[in-house]
Amino acid sequence: MSIVFIISAPSGSGKSTLVGRLMASVPGLTFSVSYTTRAPRGLEREGENYHYVSREEFERRIEAGEFLEYVHALGNYYGTHRSALERAEAEGLDLVLDIEVMGAAEVKKKLPDAVSIFVLAPSREILEARLRSRGEDADEVIERRLARAAMEIEQYESYDYVLINDDLEETAQNLIGIVRAERVKRFRMASRIQPILDTFRTGSRTRR
Ligand code: 5GP
Repeated sequence: MSIVFIISAPSGSGKSTLVGRLMASVPGLTFSVSYTTRAPRGLEREGENYHYVSREEFERRIEAGEFLEYVHALGNYYGTHRSALERAEAEGLDLVLDIEVMGAAEVKKKLPDAVSIFVLAPSREILEARLRSRGEDADEVIERRLARAAMEIEQYESYDYVLINDDLEETAQNLIGIVRAERVKRFRMASRIQPILDTFRTGSRTRR
């Protein structure tokens, strides 16, 4: 069974960098490339950051029941395709979802064992400064992102873990630590423990 890691953070919290560090450092993970109707930004590439589709195509896919979850946010649709999880399961990989709070709640409802992590910028001022220095969004979009951040931050209580990203290196290490610790949770180890127990039981019999 793949472990699903949900990572949410208001944009500008350093989430993309953290997710990049996680994917590069921990083997056995695969990133879910979402579908969106927003236009590519900066150096983003089709199939790498998102699958960029028209509103019509997105709505057709909703009708066809293709999404594990989707949301209409910041004037666009964003959604996680069911095939992302199916593929991860087939390949024996754990799945990383970079999705906002409403989608996260939906995934938790459908997959209660999913692990959710909320990343927080140290303050509104720092978040705003990061969004402006990125130089990717118009003022009006930055205002919308900040308003949405205020709403999202209120939802932190429904997450399993909270990371305050004041030091990128330390936060990345904590994120990596969460993934490693979750993989050795007792209930996920059952199928590996049983054969070990069996070898001990066999051993005690042969000695008798
Ligand atoms: P951005 O436009 O900055 O790439 O993303 C805006 C927000 O949409 C981010 O909080 C991001 O995590 C979220 N997002 C990206 N893909 C999905 C998705 O498939 N589902 C949901 N619910 N949110 C997503």
